[in-house]
Amino acid sequence: MKAPDQNTPVPSSEPAPRNLTGNAPPHEAPLLPSLAVVKTPYCHLLGYSVAGEESVIQAPELNVVFDIGKCPRPVLTSDFCLLTHGHMDHSAGLAYYLSQRFFQGMTPGTVICPAAIADAVSGVIKSWTALEGKAIAHRVIGLNIGDEFELRKGLIVRTFATRHTVPSAGFLLLDRREKLKPELAEQNLPGHMLRDMKARGEKITYTLDVPLIAYTGDTSMGETLLQDGVRDARILITECTFFEHGHRKRAAVGQHLHVNEFIEVLPKLENELVLISHLSRRTYLRWAQKQLEKAMAGLIIKPKVEFFMDHAQKLQVRPGKAAAFTPVEPATKEDSEDA
Ligand SMILES: [Zn+2]
Ligand SMILES: [Zn+2]
Repeated sequence: MKAPDQNTPVPSSEPAPRNLTGNAPPHEAPLLPSLAVVKTPYCHLLGYSVAGEESVIQAPELNVVFDIGKCPRPVLTSDFCLLTHGHMDHSAGLAYYLSQRFFQGMTPGTVICPAAIADAVSGVIKSWTALEGKAIAHRVIGLNIGDEFELRKGLIVRTFATRHTVPSAGFLLLDRREKLKPELAEQNLPGHMLRDMKARGEKITYTLDVPLIAYTGDTSMGETLLQDGVRDARILITECTFFEHGHRKRAAVGQHLHVNEFIEVLPKLENELVLISHLSRRTYLRWAQKQLEKAMAGLIIKPKVEFFMDHAQKLQVRPGKAAAFTPVEPATKEDSEDA
């Protein structure tokens, strides 16, 4: 008798396991959020932002994460969390972020937030300390509007005013350099002379601030975007939650931006790139893009505007293989709103 082929399944008296997947296409099976990744000349921006659900955008090379959302794993590597306000979709992962950094032996995390909510943020961590039975090393730094904090030499965060239903602030990252005064540079003086002048206490340099990234968090009023450092930051990440004509009232009540307000200020923006975040879950991304294109068609000055979540990476799961993030090529109409 011929020996059974190794690949031939041996008949079993056990019933075959049921197919529990319902034959759903593999990419629909996991309900994992798709992180967006944007490559800019200054840093990468990665994260996730959908109104009411989660907002978290990390600039890994600059060691910061704007808001914390539900704390997706990659953002643990940033030492500073810049929290714009306390709404759950922006702040839910705060305790986890601080606790995990401590647990993993990283330096204690620092939360920088509006001064008005600093005590409440500390209170959350205190409560969690009681639940865990051990202290979570961390720092909470409250800033008033216009205050600055040095993240590292030459990299400064400054708060700017936003208007929302709860105390809030936007964050501006500044590249601060000390430059030789132009009148001295013109003279082409030798180094020892400049050193002598400095030793005599003369001011030979001036401070040059380059606004790198402005992040609004949640805000109403287009004028928010016209503040110095925001209007002219290299990259502006702004919310724009509502696009439907009938949603202006909804935007006003929740103190969010409606596309009409955004379009009003858009020609005055000098940013190299404007990234729209915090789109309403109800709004289909491709449709919103079309509305924006139409609204921008009449503008003479058109800054480059993109939707942050249009840079989402899709999680592809193949049976028997590890899940891997792969870039999505040009989107099709079938893509879901948050893809
Ligand atoms: Zn929000
Ligand atoms: Zn909010």
